[in-house]
Amino acid sequence: MKRVLSGIQPTGSPHIGNYLGALKNWAKIQYDYDSIYCIVDLHAITAYQDPKELNTKIQQLAGILLAIGIDKKSLVLQSRVPEHAELAWLLTCVTPVGWLTRMTQFKAKAKLPKTFDDVIEYAVEQMRESAISDGLLQYPVLMAADILLYQADVVPVGDDQKQHVELTRDIAQRFNSLYPENGETFTMPATHLPTVGARVMGLDDPEKKMSKSEPGAGHAIGLLDEPSVIRKKIMRATTDSKPGVDFDDPGAGVRNLLAIYQAFTESTNEDMRARFSGMRYGDLKKTVAEAVVAGLEPIQQRYRKITPEQITEAFRLGSERAGEIAKSTLTKVKRAMGLFTFD
Ligand code: ATP
Ligand code: MG
Repeated sequence: MKRVLSGIQPTGSPHIGNYLGALKNWAKIQYDYDSIYCIVDLHAITAYQDPKELNTKIQQLAGILLAIGIDKKSLVLQSRVPEHAELAWLLTCVTPVGWLTRMTQFKAKAKLPKTFDDVIEYAVEQMRESAISDGLLQYPVLMAADILLYQADVVPVGDDQKQHVELTRDIAQRFNSLYPENGETFTMPATHLPTVGARVMGLDDPEKKMSKSEPGAGHAIGLLDEPSVIRKKIMRATTDSKPGVDFDDPGAGVRNLLAIYQAFTESTNEDMRARFSGMRYGDLKKTVAEAVVAGLEPIQQRYRKITPEQITEAFRLGSERAGEIAKSTLTKVKRAMGLFTFD
């Protein structure tokens, strides 16, 4: 059976972008593959997290994943399987630094300068507080380790992570060709993107992807948001000055709302055109809000019934199973590199 692997960070509150871009797919394909879904807490700490809050968020995220229908045997807490960090180090040693500094997410999260004026401001800021951790730069190598550790064939992620999966392939290829002794060590993973909802944009700024770590009350719809909050956020979403939906040339905000509706309801393109062409924005927003409320309701109901014991049990089961696979890959990697192994 082919293997699927993906991860989500316990940063902020999971939102409909995470759901439509990744989590919905995770649940849909989990029994077609041998599935491993990680809560990547080691990735979360590449930016400072308040320890108490982080702990609560890990539990909340686990509850949400179980409520979405992820099998408890598939759920892995990254830091419980030490081989993730160990393999990351070995891969760090075969990864050219230049591959990491050109990653879009690194540049965005490190807020690297674009213009000359920005360079000056950036340099001053850097002198004041050197806030960007080495971990943020290494982030994609750790992600490569997550994927390659389990010899994953398929990685279901949102569009923003496509570049990191490509880098993972580059790292795997480089490792395989540097250390060809016992044949190819790593399986080449393929990206799996949803057809609709691969990049959900912020409601307040449809030019920016919806993110957990982005501040602003009107930016994202949380998977646990109350129906009244969901309605309010969507009614305030940024659109444009056209009178109604121009289906062939919608502005970024309207396109985003249409994509959210289509992804939640799984409507065809024809249905979408028939339903929304010319619709006034007020009505569009009401229709989208009701689809989101209805789509999240069953998840929220199941979430309320999840107990802390179920979460602990899931972490134990999933991480034990994953640990076995991880150990065997790591032995293979060490052997290929000439490190001494006893088993
Ligand atoms: P952070 O801002 O902390 O990076 P995030 O919202 O980007 O949070 P991640 O935990 O980094 O969430 O990513 C989890 C999964 O959700 C990944 O597969 C990612 O591609 C997907 N994802 C994240 N944001 C979106 C989005 N706006 N639209 C579609 N998929 C998304
Ligand atoms: Mg992210």
